[in-house]
Amino acid sequence: MNDESKLKKATFGTGLLKGLGITMRHMVSHAVTVQYPDEISALPARSRGVIALKEENCTMCMLCARECPDWCIYIEGHKERTEPKGEGKRAKAHNVLDRFAIDYALCMYCGICVEVCPYDALFWSPDFEYAEGDITQLTHEKEKLAEWMYTVLPPPPLDDGAQGPELKLPAPVAVEPPPAAVPPPAPSPAAAPPAPAATAPAAPAPSSGLSDAEAAAVRTRVYQEEMAKGSDPRVAEGRAKAAALRARKGTKGPGG
Ligand code: SF4
Ligand code: SF4
Repeated sequence: MNDESKLKKATFGTGLLKGLGITMRHMVSHAVTVQYPDEISALPARSRGVIALKEENCTMCMLCARECPDWCIYIEGHKERTEPKGEGKRAKAHNVLDRFAIDYALCMYCGICVEVCPYDALFWSPDFEYAEGDITQLTHEKEKLAEWMYTVLPPPPLDDGAQGPELKLPAPVAVEPPPAAVPPPAPSPAAAPPAPAATAPAAPAPSSGLSDAEAAAVRTRVYQEEMAKGSDPRVAEGRAKAAALRARKGTKGPGG
């Protein structure tokens, strides 16, 4: 009897026993059935429930609509001109989104639109409870797609040892202290009578926002605070960037 025959004889029936073992284990274990809709189980962050739109990020580049294999994304908009900001400046044109709709009766949830959007305007939400009795009601407009943004889950944490995206923070700029006030010269006893004061030019109105250097300091501070709280680096970077923008515009917000 050669070696191969000996091995076959020694392992004969082990596969059958393994299979029977698995069957027995399932026969005696409890079935875990989620009693939907009374119970709703937590879905993983990458569940493909529905596509949500972050409208302010959409530039109407039409990439998603062109790449969609089902042609079920409808985008309409128009251009608006902004007046030149000063003499010698040019007027600028920008796109205004009038309509962004997805027909979920046609969508096959391939995710191509989410992948190709270069401006992070489309996200997967795990929400799946949007069934309709009428198929024509499955075309959802941008207002509804924007509502689903509130259900988008934060990205899952990185695997152990994985490197997060590199954060390119602007180099901190040293803010110089204001120059010390120079005391006025002591009046001389033989001084001539003071000349009438010249009308000083009006000081420019203070800007409501912060300077670039101060906004960069706000961005660094908020990023470090978020990282100290244990936020995901991508979330921390987004919050730091938003805080810096708010600081430059002079508007209030969390962390800014
Ligand atoms: S998921 Fe696929 S089919 Fe659905 S809208 Fe996006 S690209 Fe089109
Ligand atoms: S690819 Fe993104 S930015 Fe371009 S139209 Fe689609 S959603 Fe808007």
